[in-house]
Amino acid sequence: MSAKAFIGLGGNLGDVRATFKRALKKLEGFAQVEKVSSLYRSKHYGFGDQPDFLNAAALITTELEPLPLLAELQEIENELGKRVIRENGPRAIDLDLLLYGDLVIKGDALEVPHPGIPERDFVLLPLAELDADFRHPGLNRSMRQLKSECPGGYVMRKEESAIPPSGG
Ligand code: AMP
Repeated sequence: MSAKAFIGLGGNLGDVRATFKRALKKLEGFAQVEKVSSLYRSKHYGFGDQPDFLNAAALITTELEPLPLLAELQEIENELGKRVIRENGPRAIDLDLLLYGDLVIKGDALEVPHPGIPERDFVLLPLAELDADFRHPGLNRSMRQLKSECPGGYVMRKEESAIPPSGG
């Protein structure tokens, strides 16, 4: 059975667009990348003085269960040089499993829906762009509603070009 999932992409070190393209190509190894959002330039939320982030989201379908999917995402992060020097520090790429169908999981290794969704405009703007009617299964609110209720303050602007689903 294949499931519909949303993956969050973020990064603020190096050529982030190129890293996102490579990440999407790797995602194709275990998922169908159906749609990729625009890129959003966002103020960093971590510690100290860091470069701006680029954020995006991808809608995928996959046969993988949530935990193996998370393991694949972490493998991609490692391959593409996620360098977390400290928590919330700069990184080449961060991949989050934002939503996995209508599943609600509260585990030590994995929490789905990702707990940061309601407060993060840099997550909700790309999610609403991909599927504004998709309902957050824990809060029972659509991405459109969550976006309109989000305090925001991180996203500065939408960048001109989206990354094609093919990653090409
Ligand atoms: P971060 O470096 O901030 O992306 O945090 C990664 C850690 O969060 C890993 O240890 C994951 O096991 C854990 N985690 C829990 N839920 C999620 C999720 N929905 N997506 C990605 N990582 C998650």
